[in-house]
Amino acid sequence: MCSVGDTDFEFDIEKIEVERYKCNNCGNKFDAMGEKVVCPSCQAENVVKV
Ligand SMILES: [Zn+2]
Repeated sequence: MCSVGDTDFEFDIEKIEVERYKCNNCGNKFDAMGEKVVCPSCQAENVVKV
């Protein structure tokens, strides 16, 4: 019996929502996602969605 391959591949490809942020520290604008966003330029957490 070859009953392999009954894997439940339920890959819910969630919509990855990339949002636009702006750093209040250095003024850098960048795209980021997730909850903890830091500026890629200066690593500051002082960022806001734009
Ligand atoms: Zn910055």
